[in-house]
Amino acid sequence: MSAYLDVAVPFPIYKTFTYASPQGLESQPRPGCRVLAPFRSRKLVGMVVGLDPSPPPGTPIKEIHEVLDEEPLLSPAQIELGTWLSRFYLSPPGEAFRIMLPPGLMARDASAQGGAKRFWPTRRQLGVTALESPEGKLTARQAKAYQLLSDLDLPVLLTTFRKETGIGEAVLKALSKKGAVRIEPVTVNRSPWQDFGRLYRHREVERHDLTQDQADACGSIQRLLAEGGFQSLLLHGVTGSGKTEVYLRAIEQVLDDGGSALMMVPEIGLTPQAAHVFRAWFGDQVAILHSALGEGERFDQWRRIREGLSRVVLGTRSAVFAPVSDLGIVIVDEEHDASYKQDETPRYHAREAALQRCRIEGALAVLGSATPQLETYYSSIDKGRHRYQVMPKRVRDRPLPAVHVVDMREEFSKHGKGAVISQRLGDEISLRLERKEQVLVLINRRGYSPVLLCRSCGNCEQCENCSISLTFHQRFHRLLCHYCGFERRPPKECRVCGKEYIYYLGEGTERIQELLQEAYPKAVIDRLDRDAASRKGAYDRILGNFSKGETDILVGTQMIAKGHDFPQVTLVGVLSADQALRLADFRAAERTFQLLTQVAGRAGRGAQPGEVVIQTYFPNHYSLKCSSAQDYLSFYKQESAFRRRFRYPPFLLLANLLIQARERDDALTLAQRTAERLQIQRDQHSDRGRMRILGPAAAPLERLRGEHRFQILIKTVSRKEMHTVLMASIEDLEKAKADLRKISVDVDPLSLL
Ligand code: ADP
Ligand code: ZN
Repeated sequence: MSAYLDVAVPFPIYKTFTYASPQGLESQPRPGCRVLAPFRSRKLVGMVVGLDPSPPPGTPIKEIHEVLDEEPLLSPAQIELGTWLSRFYLSPPGEAFRIMLPPGLMARDASAQGGAKRFWPTRRQLGVTALESPEGKLTARQAKAYQLLSDLDLPVLLTTFRKETGIGEAVLKALSKKGAVRIEPVTVNRSPWQDFGRLYRHREVERHDLTQDQADACGSIQRLLAEGGFQSLLLHGVTGSGKTEVYLRAIEQVLDDGGSALMMVPEIGLTPQAAHVFRAWFGDQVAILHSALGEGERFDQWRRIREGLSRVVLGTRSAVFAPVSDLGIVIVDEEHDASYKQDETPRYHAREAALQRCRIEGALAVLGSATPQLETYYSSIDKGRHRYQVMPKRVRDRPLPAVHVVDMREEFSKHGKGAVISQRLGDEISLRLERKEQVLVLINRRGYSPVLLCRSCGNCEQCENCSISLTFHQRFHRLLCHYCGFERRPPKECRVCGKEYIYYLGEGTERIQELLQEAYPKAVIDRLDRDAASRKGAYDRILGNFSKGETDILVGTQMIAKGHDFPQVTLVGVLSADQALRLADFRAAERTFQLLTQVAGRAGRGAQPGEVVIQTYFPNHYSLKCSSAQDYLSFYKQESAFRRRFRYPPFLLLANLLIQARERDDALTLAQRTAERLQIQRDQHSDRGRMRILGPAAAPLERLRGEHRFQILIKTVSRKEMHTVLMASIEDLEKAKADLRKISVDVDPLSLL
């Protein structure tokens, strides 16, 4: 066996390193094991990604200090995926492998607490097990405890036993003295299930008779599974078409065939409701992976998956790396959702990682959405890269919601500036309250008021660290920055001119809740946004109460727009639907269309038909018109004409390089150097007609968290050339000792802010 190791270290450096494995180690490391390795003047936890028969000539080879794992943490297929991830997204390999593991296992600094954590940091507590012979005489209470324990035939935690039976430690200790039971530390499975799903027990999970569309979709999936090998399918089903049922049947099929399944949902799609449904279908073998879980819970879920105890994984973005074996299917629900893209290095997209994983492991990828991302639809329809299956109708012949667009310019001319909630929306809300039906109101901005303006001098309260205005939050009585968390007390007089003409401009969720409560004093109105959901359990409680019908109106940000299935909702109101359209982002129209279509899709999912009232200042914009008609195809046509004309994806590839530094001059100088390198490499490996390098220019968000930001945009037709040019430029910069930590590369960016 070779004694040279190819190791990825978590450091901003774009290659792996060769180390020697010292003779006489207790165990020789295999690929997928972590090692403690000397790197420059530190010790880092690295991942062994391969074995080298011979070391590269010329360079001195250092020896690793220690092997941290006896068994590999990552399988060969996962190592292949990590290697792909680092190449495709131009991420340092160590960073790619770091995010594939539960947090803390590959910390950037091994001396930091927990950096070299051993596998696994399990939690142990006292448990009790019944033994075969009781010899002595038992009291009545002891006999009862013994009986309960021997029926169970498993170790039970002392704390659990007391909670469930009321029998405490003293009785068990006495039993243990008599040799009837054994008390010893046992490994506890820290499970997220206690918190998840509890509120949904009142809702039964049915197994439906399939509609024709569902049956067709299930049939296609079955055929693809039977064919075997890598396959991919775009499942384009309107809101309420019953995609979940199709996913569940597909997973069931895979389990029957002895495989495992990965179900990916967006950040806010992993609701207690979704967990409840999966639990009802697949019982104990469902694992949940979500960044909001405690570290211990994540470890334990990960371990259960790795040991094959959990063959169904329900999770958000990073769950795409879950250590399932015999992978049969990966489902990416709401594949268009922006939370699938990680907004720090490595800036990967979980949909692309899922497709690649299926390619490596020969599995089926199902991408589901009512509003597929333009690239996905284009790949499928125009390029034939994915099969295409459409579900154009809602289940039970339920109609799609009727949409009314209210032109707020007219509303203003009729009712003046007080008109935050239009006449039409107000009337519709009253009607629903009378009928005891439920209402959702979307306002995609949290807080009370997003802008504090001095009407005397025009000063607007800005964050000290970011080029962004501060939002007033009534609940905390503070002005907050939504990007960096900076806060300050709201001023009584203008901080610039000293006058008292401070005006709160615009409305956020808090203000809308207040306005609605004034207008409908008897209604029970709740609010769901990041602030309201920040306390533990609050998110589940708010949604749970709404699901049980205890809330009449729920006001919220996009958190209320996605995935939820509340049959009693017959009205959805959308306030200021068009904010995104003001942003300088090529995806603004697409975002608006998706958000509106999704939120409208929350209405009329039960027996009563739904209605939607959208308030806007851009009633003629195609993203509004098409979402009102729930007409994806017509949106696709208009949006792709725009993208083709202005050379944006899917007709072109983009990479965005962000250069940031504390000092503006440092950022600008480095950005200019980077652009020069890129141009030189472009002229060597491509040409100006095929690859354009734009910038450096100040990023739309010029300052963020105290850093000045510049960006360079690359537009090209060839992914291969893009990678060659980027990689070569990064190597040049590295050789010239540029600080690569200040440069981040975003391949296929979702946003250019
Ligand atoms: P989608 O994700 O496509 O928007 P869901 O999967 O949430 O839709 O399904 C919408 C609703 O329809 C859910 O309440 C679901 O239980 C119900 N449903 C799904 N399939 C059927 C069916 N075949 N017959 C009746 N109801 C169904
Ligand atoms: Zn800020």
